[in-house]
Amino acid sequence: MILFSACLVGENCKYNGLNNRVEAIYEYYRKYGGILVCPEQMGGLDTPRIPSERYKDCVINQENQDVTREFVMGSQIALQIAKDNHCDVCILKKNSPSCSKHQTYDGTFTHTLLDRPGVFAEMCISQGLEVYDEDEALEYLSKISD
Ligand code: SF4
Repeated sequence: MILFSACLVGENCKYNGLNNRVEAIYEYYRKYGGILVCPEQMGGLDTPRIPSERYKDCVINQENQDVTREFVMGSQIALQIAKDNHCDVCILKKNSPSCSKHQTYDGTFTHTLLDRPGVFAEMCISQGLEVYDEDEALEYLSKISD
């Protein structure tokens, strides 16, 4: 079973109330199904919400409020959903402070990326789940599709 960042299949859960739909990922989900999560919503944050970035051991939003607790709690809930549904592969949105596999913004809100995963992606990787961002997913999904 594949778990997806919900915004990649068109759920309007992004911080600005929109989504990050990728057509090929949406089509795969429509045909084969999967599990959708949005760790930030699951942590109790509103949509729309103030954008956040990882900063040192915390997550802060653009108004300098500490939202670490919401990010960690939402990621734990999403990880439990992955486990309960026997998900072994996750397709997650790149550059997100929750979902990004490779890089996240550095907490200065200056569009500066660091080689550091998002809170949820980091948990998934540490639990041995296979994680792809939306670019890597296109090749992966084309391999496993009919
Ligand atoms: Fe998408 Fe993940 Fe951000 Fe939710 S937390 S909007 S699923 S990237």
